Amino acid sequence: MEPKVVIVGGGFGGLWAAKALAKKPVDVTLIDRKNHHVFQPLLYQVATAVLSPGEIAQPIRRILHKYKNIEVILGQAVGFDKDRNLVRLGDGSEIGYDYLIVAGGARHSYFGNDDWEEDAPGLKTIEDAVEIRRRILLAFEDAEREAYLTGKQKQLNFVVVGGGPTGVELAGAIADIARTALANDFKAIDTRSAKVALYEGSDAILSTFGDDLSDSAKEQLESLGVEVHLNSFVTDVEPERVKVGDDWIDADVVLWATGVAASPLGKALEAETDKAGRVHVEPDLSLKDDRNIFVIGDMASLMQKNGEPVPGVSPAAMQMGTATAKNILRDIKVEPREDFEYWDKGTMATIGRRKAIAQAAGMKFRGFIAWMMWLFLHVFFLIGFRNRLAVLVDWFWAYLTRERSARLITGDADELRHQAKPPVSAAASTAKRHAKTAD
Ligand SMILES: Cc1cc2nc3c(=O)[nH]c(=O)nc-3n(C[C@H](O)[C@H](O)[C@H](O)COP(=O)(O)OP(=O)(O)OC[C@H]3O[C@@H](n4cnc5c(N)ncnc54)[C@H](O)[C@@H]3O)c2cc1C
Repeated sequence: MEPKVVIVGGGFGGLWAAKALAKKPVDVTLIDRKNHHVFQPLLYQVATAVLSPGEIAQPIRRILHKYKNIEVILGQAVGFDKDRNLVRLGDGSEIGYDYLIVAGGARHSYFGNDDWEEDAPGLKTIEDAVEIRRRILLAFEDAEREAYLTGKQKQLNFVVVGGGPTGVELAGAIADIARTALANDFKAIDTRSAKVALYEGSDAILSTFGDDLSDSAKEQLESLGVEVHLNSFVTDVEPERVKVGDDWIDADVVLWATGVAASPLGKALEAETDKAGRVHVEPDLSLKDDRNIFVIGDMASLMQKNGEPVPGVSPAAMQMGTATAKNILRDIKVEPREDFEYWDKGTMATIGRRKAIAQAAGMKFRGFIAWMMWLFLHVFFLIGFRNRLAVLVDWFWAYLTRERSARLITGDADELRHQAKPPVSAAASTAKRHAKTAD
């Protein structure tokens, strides 16, 4: 019988490990709690109505369908029995392994205040993106309804917490839709007056890019109309407001894009973890006391030779997946394992239409050229030919027309609206129906 490799997680790390083990003399089982792989770098485009969920996600079973030695199981891993080499699933079933690769990823951390999540959701899954899209679009709908009924336009406030890539992308995209895609569709409100504020605790946004690119990103974001507040810690979150330092700020929608909390599967492995729950791994990505167990991707904590940690980005997860698969195959051939070395091909972050920053091959790029690089790479790495084509068509359309095609909110009005809000009287509605001045 061939050695059995179980992979937990079909994200970038797990999927790349599976692909590198395809058609090899191993029997692979990939377990994921979702039936789909998500291209997380484009999640914010679903959250801001550019793309539909199906354009950035593919069923894992479909991606791996042609490999006879790989089975895909829909299930949630909840624990491990390392003595008996078993993965335990939520339904009580157990799956045995000879080699185990754990690639459960990470989420944003609320620094011990998990109750903030309800009022300030983070962006990690398709469900998160659809919920964020719902909140953003609904905020405009509620403001329109209120202005129609009362003749008064309320100030719409969007708050994004965290100035890393996700926070910057979300803030830029919300400012962009408020000023372009939605502006002509609403009659009673001027969507362009919506305020988008980004709060970052440190003294720079996108700080890993270095001072000049970080400054450029701030300028580009501000040119879209986003207020960028540095050295501003959010210290509390309540429904429709956040506390920054000692001040409460009104917010119709709050989005959380800071902190890292690795999958609890790291703790379930009873391995040594860092403060964010990432598992300290050996240079070959295995556990010190269990050399047949590997932890990869966002769940792994490993220092590079230059003293920097391997970053929690998709290329690192993909490279770790491939490297782990190769080491398992080396074991089978009774060859020595090789240490993992991260190859940094460069980093980039998009800020908005024609706006981005990038660094690659010792060079720095900003503005339109960085944005084109970002577009090309993201389409290139998107899984599935149909998806690539659909995304390209949608982007091209959005670029030409500034239209956003994925603006559906599902559900009926009354279930959707914040029930806590008092109903607005219709009496005042007729007089000032057109609060927005036509221009
Ligand atoms: C919004 C966002 C934008 C990003 N943008 C970029 C970018 O532009 N460039 C970049 O390089 N990186 C980006 N990243 C980071 C990148 O996506 C991650 O570094 C990468 O996904 C890590 O891969 P992974 O395999 O470790 O985890 P993931 O890709 O997160 O995959 C984890 C998988 O494990 C599954 N899983 C989790 N727990 C269980 C369980 N208990 N049982 C079964 N299955 C489980 C999940 O369903 C998921 O499929 C972004 C991340 C986010 C959230």
